[in-house]
Amino acid sequence: MKLFRSLSIVLMASLVWAETAMAEESPIAIAIHGGAGTIERSKMTDDQERAYREKLTEAVNAGYQVLEKGGDSLDAVTTAIRILEDSPLFNAGIGAVYTYEGRHELDASIMEGKSRRAGAVAGVTSVRNPIDLARMVMEDSPHVMLAGPGAETFAQSRGVERVDNSLFDTERRRKQLDEAKKKIQSEERRHGNEQAAVEALPVAFRMGTVGAVALDKNGNLAAGTSTGGMTAKRYGRIGDSPVIGAGTFADNASCAVSATGHGEYFIRFNVAADICARVRYQDKSVGEAADAVINDVLRPVGGTGGVIVLDAAGNIALTFNTPGMYRASRSSDSPLYIGIFDKE
Ligand code: ASP
Repeated sequence: MKLFRSLSIVLMASLVWAETAMAEESPIAIAIHGGAGTIERSKMTDDQERAYREKLTEAVNAGYQVLEKGGDSLDAVTTAIRILEDSPLFNAGIGAVYTYEGRHELDASIMEGKSRRAGAVAGVTSVRNPIDLARMVMEDSPHVMLAGPGAETFAQSRGVERVDNSLFDTERRRKQLDEAKKKIQSEERRHGNEQAAVEALPVAFRMGTVGAVALDKNGNLAAGTSTGGMTAKRYGRIGDSPVIGAGTFADNASCAVSATGHGEYFIRFNVAADICARVRYQDKSVGEAADAVINDVLRPVGGTGGVIVLDAAGNIALTFNTPGMYRASRSSDSPLYIGIFDKE
């Protein structure tokens, strides 16, 4: 009897030990962003700041709850991004910037780290949550990227909710479009050069892209990004957000990245994939890799923006070379963190 009792105690102790070890071995984590740019305390009212912090908190907590309940990283990413797309505060979904013609063309992408499957949509005009459509491209089509009217037809065929383009309208973004067009037209007159005119636009004219990276208890990473792109964009311009390797990347063997910033630079410098390549092949931490690409590669050439990065051990980096980036994170190892300005 005594022997039996001692054996059960030993067995129970080892079970508790195994469970603790498993919990320690299986971190969960999520990080989100709501765009990087010239975000200055002096230009923001207390109410505006509170609204951003509340929305970031809601989105990161919703994603974290998915992971806590044992959900997978793709669901955590889409849950968080949908909340940000539905908020008029950010340049994605409702609140997206306007094109030169006064419409909204939305881009989004998603990637999972386990299989490196990915899906993306570009220039969609009538899909309420582009991140869901990107996921559908990944899971329910043989393709990675669908654009424009074709992407809308695909959405239609899959029964995705369609909305009028005006659903994404906001007064704030309309004013930005009017200002941007004035600036572009006067620069064009001055330089006779469209490139210089677009370069002259302040960062605020594209800010507010949203993204998320997550790690689930099975060790799987995922990343997603969604945006309205750049104010007054023309000719079907597409930025980095729907480009796998530029604005979004996920690989369990290295890291998951979602980017925000001047998309042309992020495409040319293959930012998200470069960060993960440094983690994988140079054995850099996510913080070191992100810092090298954002500050040593992009900054000298004039590329502004930031990234959120997460590895399969739950390490998080929130790195940017602009005065601020809307950001938040939470993991089994670290409490809720919300940041807007530099150094907080
Ligand atoms: N990267 C986005 C784009 O270029 C914009 C942004 O993140 O601010 O379309």
